[in-house]
Amino acid sequence: MYGALDIGGTKIAGALIDRTGRLVARAQHATPAQGSAEDLMAAVFHVLDGLAAYPAWDGLTRLGVASAGPVDTVTGTVSPVNIPAWRAFPLVENVRAHPRVPAGIHPVLVGDAVAMAAAEHWAGAARGVENALCMVVSTGVGGGLILGGRLHAGTTGNAGHIGHITVDQNGPLCPCGARGCVERFAAGPAIAAHALESGWTPPPGTAPTAAAAATAARAGDPGARAAFDRAGKALAAAIAATAALVELDLVVIGGGVAQSGETLFGPLRRHLADHAVLDFTRDLTVAPAALALDAGLIGAAAAAGAAGPPPGALPAETALEGAHPRPAVAHPAETSMGT
Ligand SMILES: [Zn+2]
Repeated sequence: MYGALDIGGTKIAGALIDRTGRLVARAQHATPAQGSAEDLMAAVFHVLDGLAAYPAWDGLTRLGVASAGPVDTVTGTVSPVNIPAWRAFPLVENVRAHPRVPAGIHPVLVGDAVAMAAAEHWAGAARGVENALCMVVSTGVGGGLILGGRLHAGTTGNAGHIGHITVDQNGPLCPCGARGCVERFAAGPAIAAHALESGWTPPPGTAPTAAAAATAARAGDPGARAAFDRAGKALAAAIAATAALVELDLVVIGGGVAQSGETLFGPLRRHLADHAVLDFTRDLTVAPAALALDAGLIGAAAAAGAAGPPPGALPAETALEGAHPRPAVAHPAETSMGT
């Protein structure tokens, strides 16, 4: 049984997840995003209390923690942009201190976009795929990589950070300090802002969001369409660059902006045909994410499952895994799990 936490700017979600990726119990608490570090940790403990009250908690073998980034998986610390009281906050150490977390269980930290990639690979659109880029296009743009059939999180857990790849050397400054980042074109707020600059006017009483712009684009509004075209072009440039670097088999895109469907995917695929022109990058499939709301939780569990053999596993099991022609540890469902 896997335990999973997903810590975001609005809510802290928890779940117990079985080895097939099914959620068997849930707990949730609002994130006191403007609260103190202690307030935030109390909310996390509240969710852990809720999970520990289920009988299935007694079968816990792994615990994964997905968090809004940046994260540092080496130090087990998080500094979520939307949670100001946590800067280099030792989240792993604090989760481990919960009285009901068994002594042998080491929480596995993962960034939320990397978690999404792990989730889609385990139980979603990238299942069985060897090399995939999974992206979240929402209020920001994030991503994670599956390479050689395994989650590639990078040394500190931040690999796949595609939102801050420069696609326009002369583009607008990004809060990260660089110029012309993908996020400045393709994130929801950037799409809404560009639609407004291009002459789109939201209907009276409607907030100028990317979702409202998508509705207008579908109705033919030229300003809104221009904003989605620009977003699709930026995403296409970054995807083509990634495909050229690592040879992708699939791109999966989720997040709020991806809910606009063909309004985003249409221009993205058109521009990708112009950008991904090498023999090995051409005709790359771009698919919508399959796991929407629970991707963070499922990904936290998947990442925890991929982190190595379960505590107390017999050496023989490890040897067997090592002898497998294609290492199965990237799919927690396939690993031999103690209970
Ligand atoms: Zn940036």
